[in-house]
Amino acid sequence: MASVRKNARGIWLARWVDASGMRRSRAAVPNTRLAAKALAEELQLNARRQQEGLTPRMPRDGGGSVGALLEWWLESYSHRLASHASNEGSVRRHLLTASLAELRLDACSSAAVEALLDAKEREGLRPQTVNHLRAFLSRAFAAAIRVGRWPGANPVALVRKRKVPKTAVGDHLRVEEVPRVLAQLHPRWRPLYATAIYTGLRKGELAALRREDVDLEARLLVVRRSWDRETTKGGHADAVPIAAALVPWLRDALQQSPSELVFPHVCSPSCPQKSCPGPGGMLSREVALEAVLRRALGRAGIVRGWKHVCRRRGCRHKEPASDASLRRCRKCNMRLWPKPVVRPIRFHDLRHTTATLLLREKVPLVVVQKVLRHRDPKLTEQVYGHLADDFLRAGVDRLQFEGMPEPASVPSIAFASGSGTPAGPKLHRTHEGPESRPENARGSGPFDLSGRRGSNPRPSAWEADALPLSYSRERLDRGTTTAPPGSSRFTARSRGEPARPGCSAPAPRGRSRRTTRRDRSTAHRGAHGAARGAAARSGSGSAR
Ligand SMILES: [Zn+2]
Ligand SMILES: [Zn+2]
Repeated sequence: MASVRKNARGIWLARWVDASGMRRSRAAVPNTRLAAKALAEELQLNARRQQEGLTPRMPRDGGGSVGALLEWWLESYSHRLASHASNEGSVRRHLLTASLAELRLDACSSAAVEALLDAKEREGLRPQTVNHLRAFLSRAFAAAIRVGRWPGANPVALVRKRKVPKTAVGDHLRVEEVPRVLAQLHPRWRPLYATAIYTGLRKGELAALRREDVDLEARLLVVRRSWDRETTKGGHADAVPIAAALVPWLRDALQQSPSELVFPHVCSPSCPQKSCPGPGGMLSREVALEAVLRRALGRAGIVRGWKHVCRRRGCRHKEPASDASLRRCRKCNMRLWPKPVVRPIRFHDLRHTTATLLLREKVPLVVVQKVLRHRDPKLTEQVYGHLADDFLRAGVDRLQFEGMPEPASVPSIAFASGSGTPAGPKLHRTHEGPESRPENARGSGPFDLSGRRGSNPRPSAWEADALPLSYSRERLDRGTTTAPPGSSRFTARSRGEPARPGCSAPAPRGRSRRTTRRDRSTAHRGAHGAARGAAARSGSGSAR
């Protein structure tokens, strides 16, 4: 079975019989008889394992192309998802046009995927979008592995996810603005917007809400559909409580509706809608609920300012202003038309309004999660957690000291004259730190510094952060924490900084007894973060 042969050009070939019974040969590296023999034996063993089902057998065509895999995934998996339309757009635009799509699956390595995503980042795609492309590939491979279409591994598993900067949630309505906006809406729209604000339902979920989903007796509303789909965005049906104040609005909507839907399209003999579904049909996605909301915001005076526009033909003069008082055109003296520039509140921000107002009323985060029907509490925490920090504030309020001097007793001359620096540690990002000097420039600009500016000018490695406090205190108290040789270039001193008390590691043994726990762990982190950093950079990994 396994054998070796030297061909006419003097190349040693390993020969074996593969799992399908074909005779195969491959050149050995290095070109020696011994290497060829070892290779042949290995390949033969692998073939036998494949025959016995111990190792997956690779398809002869290498699993087909990546493009074919993606097409198959779109057709058999993605089409069931609420996000199919956008999935398909993205896959066709960014993945099927790439050279990666022509690769065979057995040639699609993690490096190839990584290179494609890098290129997409350079094209200017946002990290979130790049992560979506990664996810499409990964899900396609996972699906193929699940159904036995691809016997190999998922090459995307090793490809890193791009870091997505946290974006703030959109604007939302304040408590006192909600009644003002509702009052300015046309009465036919009020029940819909009131339901959106009280329940946090998405646009499509409101449009698809049916009579049978609303139980005013039990004050429960079941969300199980979105637009004309039989599932919601989250893919599951959920019951949402109906607030007492919402009951009359829903009753009104049910009385008005001529059909099974709670908030149907409202038709008139001169219906302006292009794709009119007829009376009682489903609201169209094109109905500009956003525009309806914006107009109400304008009338309610929830604005950032005004734009005064000249409406004389061809004049086009406009000027921004903070008020709506009438003024005249500078060019033609015509009276200007004040247009409100409303706060940027989209329809979806009504959902944020629900969450934000609930949290402001000190409703627990877990309740808000249930109302918003987030399956993963992490999501609620990520998006709204910062609003639920009252308990944190109550926590720090308990820091009370006897005989604290008044803030006015801090010498203010240094601030006023502009010379010298104020006493005490800097608690905010500073631009005068060593990292701002040109000789210390390292690409990514100043870091967010900890309260103790000098202790460690760069972020420590994650392992160091993860060290338990008890460990650090013990080590520090014994004074055994030392930075290994080679790490000194990461300490502040070697970067041209004069030694400062508290900035050198390890912490001096004779330090004040009143050193706080935070001080110690910071100093410790300084030493260890530097050590880990050095280890990681030198690739030795032996600094542990
Ligand atoms: Zn109509
Ligand atoms: Zn004008």
